[in-house]
Parts: sequence; structure tokens; C-alpha cells
Amino acid sequence: MKHTKSEALYKEAVKYIPGGVNSPVRSFNSVGISPIFAKKAHGSRITDVDDNEYIDYICSWGPLMLGHSNEEISKGIGEMIASGTSFGLATEIEVEMAKLIVDAYPAIDQVRMVNSGTEATMSALRVARGFTKRNKIVKFEGCYHGHSDGLLVKSGSGTITFGVQTSPGVPTDIVKNTLVCKYNDIEDIKRVFEEDGEDIAAIIVETIGGNMGIVPGKQEFIEFLRKICDEYKTVLIFDEVITGFRLSYNSSLEYFGVKPDMVCLGKIIGAGMPVGAYVGKKEIMEVVSPVGPVYQAGTLSGNPLAMYLGKRNLEILRDNPQIYEALNEKADKLEQGIKNNLKKLNLNYTVNRAGSLVCLFFKEGPVENYDDAIESNVEKYNAYFKEMLDRGVLIGPSQFEAMFLSYAHSDEDIEYTITCNYESLRAIHNL
Ligand SMILES: *Cc1c(COP(=O)(O)O)cnc(C)c1O
Repeated sequence: MKHTKSEALYKEAVKYIPGGVNSPVRSFNSVGISPIFAKKAHGSRITDVDDNEYIDYICSWGPLMLGHSNEEISKGIGEMIASGTSFGLATEIEVEMAKLIVDAYPAIDQVRMVNSGTEATMSALRVARGFTKRNKIVKFEGCYHGHSDGLLVKSGSGTITFGVQTSPGVPTDIVKNTLVCKYNDIEDIKRVFEEDGEDIAAIIVETIGGNMGIVPGKQEFIEFLRKICDEYKTVLIFDEVITGFRLSYNSSLEYFGVKPDMVCLGKIIGAGMPVGAYVGKKEIMEVVSPVGPVYQAGTLSGNPLAMYLGKRNLEILRDNPQIYEALNEKADKLEQGIKNNLKKLNLNYTVNRAGSLVCLFFKEGPVENYDDAIESNVEKYNAYFKEMLDRGVLIGPSQFEAMFLSYAHSDEDIEYTITCNYESLRAIHNL
């Protein structure tokens, strides 16, 4: 497979853009090759500028539940563009979108749209602090909540890949209010609340850890978070930027049966447009300006084009529950296929899965937290990534990312992926 044009573009890109990329995970530094540049994509397939075609398991890192360039979603977008791209005034479609999200989440009453997941989590924390009049927050090792200052502590995803524990440029004065606990560890939370409980404004958690590979929260862990938040009047925030509308239409609510006080959304609700949202109970959301004193704003927030695509995406998911069943079946098939390959090859690696999120860890199981995840054999993963890419299967260029399945992945795609998994594992272990 040739990457001549991608390599040339990369040489040009690094002159003008740090590392040649606008987000670190797009760089293939971690796997030691020059990144591929995308040209177009349709359904489960993505084509690079050298016209190589891949089955895509990055899927824009999660937003594309229905696959790339889905015509059902984008139908009518041309007319929307023709009638104006942004108004700086309230629009009808923002009301429709907010109602759609509230209807999906019985635990919450109000929605504020923003432009990214980072903005959603950053703003939700400000609101939780304003509401509780407390400063401290709890996050978990390996959970990523975007790149705002107070959240860049042991935060998974690109930060593990690139070895950043906390980022230079983040004042220690800010992160001193971020208390970090072990994921899936109830005793660790108890310890932190015994010390600081009365000062803790919020717990923010990925109910399914999706940025240290896939590490699902345990039922009793998520339930305990609800319990301790009730006890201390702390705001429980689910960061569902990956999982929102992915696990099921009402996602973690249905998956765990636990009601959060606030939820952060992104990715799927924008169907590939730059969108995020933070949502919550009325009494909490009413501290937000202009009703309350907590300031948060956005020139392009609730952008009509983004709302249009996001709303169509959600409506399709709402009206077609069979999509979730089908996605689960596909993911199950992939999971079982990889597990069978591991057995045949006598390799003790671990496959974690939650709904349509799948992750092969290059280590023995169980993988239940950040410490487990980072023990994976990253060199082996990197070699595996290249073998898969050569066979036309694109997975994340990092051990600590999920495989994102979409409804557009066909049974043949999955069978082919399982075959490539077998051959690639054989190749890197000389079996
Ligand atoms: C991607 C992600 C974010 C950040 O969203 P951006 O749109 O990249 O700012 C926040 N939280 C989680 C769980 C994510 O996966």
C-alpha cells in the first residue's frame, strides 16, 4: 500500500500546523509512521488521498453511529445552507433539538448547546460549582473529559499515548481542586469523601471508560457514585460524550439504571458537526446565565446547520430501535471472532466491550482501571496497527482508543476484519 501523497502532505503540514495535525491522535507518531490524510468516506469505508480504501473503525472517534456521509441524515442540508449559516439569534431548531434530548433523558430537564465535548464538561463543572458553591471536583484516572485545565490530570486518550500526566501550561493552583480517584474503586472514593466531602462540587465520570481503551464501569461502582453524591449533596455528572445515544437511545440511564444530575454530550448529537451540550435538572441549570449568575456563552452555539444534522441523526436513532440491536449483534460478532482468534493462537490478551465499543488489550485480563490498561504491550499494539492498516483495516493509532462500530459496518466487513485480526496477530508474533 502506497502513501506517497499522504507523506508529501504531511511534510507540508508540519510546516504550518504543530505536528501537522489539529488534534494529537490524528498524528501517527505513536505508531512510528506518517499519518494518512483522508479524502472522502462513505458508509463503513474511508479513502485516503492515495486512493487506498479502509474499513474504518475510527469513524471520526465516535460521532458517526450511522456511518460516513449518511444521505438520510444530510438530506435537505443544502436548503438549510442557502437560508443562512448562523444568525446570532434564537432559532426554532434549537428548541426542537433541546426537546429531543430532554425526551431521551428522563432524569434531566434543560439543555445548553455548546460547540465541543471539551466545552460541555468545562461548563458543566462551572455550573456544578456555582450551584453547590464548592470548589473541588472528583475525576477518575484514565477518564478523559476534554482538554480544559482542571480536567487534564491522568486523563487517558492522547495523554497516555503521548506520555502527558498533566500538561505544562496548567497552573498547579487550578489542578489542586481536582481530586483523582481510581476507576471502579469504591474504597478510593470513600477515602476522598471522608477527607473533603463537604467541599466537593461534582463527580465527573465516564460510565464506560472510553479513553483508556474500553473499560466499562462496574454496576456497583456507578450505583455507589449516586449514593455518595446524594449523601454529600454533590452533583453527579455523567460524561457521555462517547456513550450518549450509543449504548442505547437513553444510554447510561438504561445501561446502569442510575440517574445523574447532569450529563455532558457531544460526538453523536452532532453527527460529525462540532457540537456539545450539557444538560441537567432544572434547579441546577437555572444557575446558568441569563437566568442565574453562572456565565457561559457561545457565538456559534446551537448553530442551525449543526442542529439540523444532529437532530436528524437522533430522530433516526429514536425511530429505529432495531439499529441498536443490530449494532450489538455486529459488535458481539467482532468480539467473539477476536476471542476465537486469540484462543486459536494461544494468546492471553483481553477483549473489553460495551455495546458497539470494542477494544483488544495486548495484555492478560481483567482490565478494570487505568493501571491495568497501561500495562498493555504498546509496542505489540503498534505493530498490530500497521499490519491491520496494510490489510485495509483502519483502527485507532493507539492502544488506548476504542474500535467504533457503526450501523454501516456490514457482516462482510466484520468477517474480513476478523480474518485480518488473525493474520495480523500471527504476523507480529511470528506464529
Ligand atoms: C471526546 C471526548 C471529550 C471531548 O470532546 P471534544 O469534542 O473532543 O472536545 C470529552 N469527554 C469524552 C468522554 C470524550 O470522549
